[in-house]
Amino acid sequence: MIRAAFARLRPLAFPLALALAASPVGVPAQGLPRAGGAAVSGGLPTLGDAEGLSVGAERRLGERIARELFRDPDYLDDAVLSDYVQQLWVPLLAAARQRGELPPDMDERFAWRILLGRDRSINAFALPGGWLGLHLGLISATTTRDEVAAVLAHELSHVTQRHIARMMTQDSRVSPLVMGAMILGAAMATRNPAMGQAVVAGGQTVAMRSQLNFSRDMEREADRVGFGVLTQAGFEPAGVVAMFEKLQQASRLNDDGSFAYLRTHPLTTERISDMRARLPMDMGSAGPKASRPDLLHGLAAARARVLSAPGVDALRVLVREAQALPADAPLPRQAAALYGGALASLKLRDAAQAARLQARLARLDLAGDPAAARFVRLLGGELAWAAGDSAGALAAAGMRPVERPEVLLAAMAQLQITQVEAAAQAADRLQSWVLDHPSDATAWQLLAQAQGARGLPLRALRAEAEARVAVLDYPAAMDRLRAAQNLARRGTTDHVEASIIDARSRQVELLLREQAAER
Ligand SMILES: [Zn+2]
Repeated sequence: MIRAAFARLRPLAFPLALALAASPVGVPAQGLPRAGGAAVSGGLPTLGDAEGLSVGAERRLGERIARELFRDPDYLDDAVLSDYVQQLWVPLLAAARQRGELPPDMDERFAWRILLGRDRSINAFALPGGWLGLHLGLISATTTRDEVAAVLAHELSHVTQRHIARMMTQDSRVSPLVMGAMILGAAMATRNPAMGQAVVAGGQTVAMRSQLNFSRDMEREADRVGFGVLTQAGFEPAGVVAMFEKLQQASRLNDDGSFAYLRTHPLTTERISDMRARLPMDMGSAGPKASRPDLLHGLAAARARVLSAPGVDALRVLVREAQALPADAPLPRQAAALYGGALASLKLRDAAQAARLQARLARLDLAGDPAAARFVRLLGGELAWAAGDSAGALAAAGMRPVERPEVLLAAMAQLQITQVEAAAQAADRLQSWVLDHPSDATAWQLLAQAQGARGLPLRALRAEAEARVAVLDYPAAMDRLRAAQNLARRGTTDHVEASIIDARSRQVELLLREQAAER
């Protein structure tokens, strides 16, 4: 079976209420659900409808796959990078909506979430039900935010055009369950071929792998629709061509499989020239204009490089790069190298070196780029927290944090103080955060810690349960809820929490039963 676990979460667009809603259409264990379920309406593709697979069935299939991804050791919820990617993703979704590419039914019921993988390969993939996977290698290999957005817009369009649903209905001999395993296998195979094979193994194997690639027409459609979404969202269209040329260049130099994206999205000269033809005249004829230096993206790429570094040697290289930086290097290069070096030093547990590089970074004049300055400030908070300087970390998070990285940093700093009062403040902060972001597993986990520190075990157990629900691990959630019920039975004054726990137990029990029925 698949061993998977990405360990922290993006909140967003996946309200708990949705996960708890009863499913109108059941997925039969064998054979495809027939048409007539939740049909998608409006804004649909030129390639024909996805007849067999309803939106509801695709959503459930997506959850089955996402559940495995959450358990992948490479899954990573880095608050800073997740937030960065979210800033690209939200405008793309809004643009797809405005352009009528995202029918309300699909909009509401699909997850629309991007899971980050700590993998150095240049890869991104769309899964059923609006889940996307994005490898850190893709972030670190790009030079502008437009390039990342171009890939996300393309993947988004595979989902909105229901390419996955169509792919699945092309072969009615394959049940959604098997197809789900195959899609996951193909996604994992891009990282670890042996693992991918193992997932798919068991009869319907290699021959079917070829069907998991989108067709040439689907690729063309995702390029076309994705381009419209990208430009409407305000990104530079040249990012698309830059990205494709980068991939093509990379594939010429390197054939060891680290450019996995190319295997599922074969690049053809035709696709690149189609793209170029879509650019405004002045850019199309001269080729993509040189990427403008993107300070913020450079920091995000540096962070991705550190977090996906394969070992201490790779981290040491990043530290040396920062140390050897020429004084007259352009600002974006200096900022990226110092940021990467400081974070790499932190990972190497060299606090003194981290502080030296961070101090140099903080002296750069980033006043013209508030978002980049925020990245640097958050890094300062991270270093302070790691050094046990709770006050420094709290200061970096700001007085009234509203964004996720700041909210989580502030809570972590307060938990570090190990006083009941600070734990209570952290709990308040996190409690109001999860109210708006119920699928934020990391926040729930921190809340569990805060409640435990306050001596409120019932609340701690429930928060732990919610963290498991958020990563779709219902058996583990049920386990925590039962422990909480047992504890409450031994006597509690927290009657409100006890009744919430009873209600949640019934809901999670239903989810568990539904999950068992799908097997
Ligand atoms: Zn594609």
